[in-house]
Amino acid sequence: MGKSSIRQVAIYGKGGIGKSTTTQNLTAGLTELGKKVMVVGCDPKADSTRLLLGGLAQKTVLDTMRDVGGDIELEKILKTGYKGTKCVESGGPEPGVGCAGRGIITSIGLLERLGAYTPDLDYVFYDVLGDVVCGGFAMPIREGKAKEIYIVASGEMMALYAANNIAKGVQRYAQKGGVRLGGIICNSRNVDREIELLRAFSKELGSHLIYFVPRDNIVQHAEIRRKTVIEFNPDSHQAQEYRNLAKTIQENTDFVIPKPMTQERLEEILMEYGLMDLVEDYKI
Ligand code: ADP
Ligand code: MG
Repeated sequence: MGKSSIRQVAIYGKGGIGKSTTTQNLTAGLTELGKKVMVVGCDPKADSTRLLLGGLAQKTVLDTMRDVGGDIELEKILKTGYKGTKCVESGGPEPGVGCAGRGIITSIGLLERLGAYTPDLDYVFYDVLGDVVCGGFAMPIREGKAKEIYIVASGEMMALYAANNIAKGVQRYAQKGGVRLGGIICNSRNVDREIELLRAFSKELGSHLIYFVPRDNIVQHAEIRRKTVIEFNPDSHQAQEYRNLAKTIQENTDFVIPKPMTQERLEEILMEYGLMDLVEDYKI
């Protein structure tokens, strides 16, 4: 793709599945490939850019607007992190008050007005909480920003349940516009037969398992130092995994309108890959 077309990518997945960790490490991998990236955190947790910013304090767009009021300069909400990566945190309302998607709407509008989408960018990543694809959380795709979606999942039932729901949301917008699912990223929880399960799940969606990221404690070691694994230990096995993920996304050409499955079908797949082990383990 030429310089003028920014690949705008949304990373969805249930809370705690590893969206922010994966996105930031993947971004670090892309910068090594010479790519210019902006990461827009769209989770009220506001920790989507923590590892890229290291010690830097990032104030969210919503907090900045509350404090500054009218005129906001781009530098107030956009900080430059690891290898020039541009970092924004949308933020959210106080817990229990208002729509958590509002920060995303506000941020995208503001970034646009302040000229943050510069043509030198190769990628913009939206790290979006996706237990539900409510109006607010669908913003990056609804507004025609992100055209490329990846869902982070694992072999755990709730992760797949959320992934299937997200696929339903993606399908809705894909039919109206150019939004496509680029694949499922498995962030492993070391569930039995996880890779086979995720392959079957992705295939059922009409998509593919684009990458299997192993679970590795080095992620925690890097995290407490506020670093991506690539920065913390560039020679580690896990750093290489994230580089491979970056390369795979860079080269991906498989974009589809997903076909979400019924709850019954999802449970059937889970039974096929999961329950068989239980049968053996517990003699049921
Ligand atoms: P999300 O953004 O989806 O809410 P996070 O990226 O914050 O999830 O990940 C949740 C926790 O899982 C993090 O604290 C991180 O340390 C851990 N984690 C994520 N990916 C891995 C991995 N591949 N190996 C080990 N720990 C991981
Ligand atoms: Mg997160």
